Amino acid sequence: MEFDSDLYRTAVRQLDAVALGLKLDPDIHERLRVPRRALVVSIPTLMDDGSTRVFIGYRVHHNTTLGPTKGGLRYHPDVNLGEVTALAMLMSWKCALMGLPYGGAKGGVRCNPSAMSPRELERMTRRFTTEIILMIGPDLDIPAPDLGTDEQTMAWIMDTYSMTQGKSVPGVVTGKPLIVGGSAGRRDATGRGIVYALYQAARHLRFDLKGTRAAIQGFGNVGSVVARLLWREGCQVVAVSDAKGGVHNGKGLDIRELAGHVRETGSVAGFRDAEPLTNPELLELDCDLLIPAAVGGQLTEANADRIKARVVAEGANGPTTPEADAILADRKIAVIPDILANAGGVVVSYFEWVQGLQFYFWRESEINTRLQEVITRAFNQVWGLAQRDGTTLRTAALMLGVSRIAEGKRVRGLYP
Ligand code: GLU
Repeated sequence: MEFDSDLYRTAVRQLDAVALGLKLDPDIHERLRVPRRALVVSIPTLMDDGSTRVFIGYRVHHNTTLGPTKGGLRYHPDVNLGEVTALAMLMSWKCALMGLPYGGAKGGVRCNPSAMSPRELERMTRRFTTEIILMIGPDLDIPAPDLGTDEQTMAWIMDTYSMTQGKSVPGVVTGKPLIVGGSAGRRDATGRGIVYALYQAARHLRFDLKGTRAAIQGFGNVGSVVARLLWREGCQVVAVSDAKGGVHNGKGLDIRELAGHVRETGSVAGFRDAEPLTNPELLELDCDLLIPAAVGGQLTEANADRIKARVVAEGANGPTTPEADAILADRKIAVIPDILANAGGVVVSYFEWVQGLQFYFWRESEINTRLQEVITRAFNQVWGLAQRDGTTLRTAALMLGVSRIAEGKRVRGLYP
């Protein structure tokens, strides 16, 4: 099957399990297992040494039942069709769970962005945008940042698309720089959403965030924001890592100084006042909150029985395998699933899109208040369903997301 990959198998397994629990119409279930459309493109790119390299890129629309599709774009050496398809599927459930009028999409280019110059990245991004131009648009499919992409990437996409239309089209991407129609609060939104979800987890599980010990894998768009916000809440952030290594201090790291160290050196590694630790060691550290906020497939059957945290909040997409999920559930460790924990990004993307369509922009405090409302409502719906049915938070979140799309499909019917 063309979409085969570890993450795709996981995503379909999750859907199948939930379909059984929901007694989903088998025809609708079958339609949700595969994407609506998927495009594979080659991206010839002029490199700085004068040679041309051909990169492979993807854009996948999983379903369009509830509206145009929405989802990030990743630049990473492991990007492949199956992974992008699985991530598009997760976006469908995530948007439906948050009550957003979107279907799920995802895209990516197989490349190593850290080994490319800004000029090379710009040329690759512009050519990629041109190759997928028939698949994107403000009322069709709206990309956003993901692993390895950022505001600058979105500005290039917006410019390339706008040039083909003869006018500025801010609504074609979200996560743009503020000056060209980005939203206040978008940069911090994913991390902020995780903290809002943790407020609710703390309330239901009766613990105080203040004084809890947190370990965070990843110090990028998501991890660095979670670290800063938790630190401000009075948590002890005892360990943080990135692709180059990690640092640990049992008394808590000074996150402002750590951010300064990262600005100077490009990594958390080597931060003074801390001992070095590896990524696998971070996951198994003695702490209360574990936040995997980097790549997928981190909590597996090989390490799940050694996780010591009480709550895991998934900042990354797909960091826990189904085997690990079962072990963590047995051990009564609460896992706040990706489609709930990290949904703050797409929620504020939605706000950015609406603001761009109306050319009317809101204050950051307004954005944060509305974000908190959306995350809190979704968390409490998920929590309530999990309590009622005695399931994990992941199963409850998937049940809510999948059932909303299935209901949309039922009421719209099958064309022709
Ligand atoms: N890439 C983010 C995610 O996985 C954000 C997507 C968006 O804002 O459209 O949720």
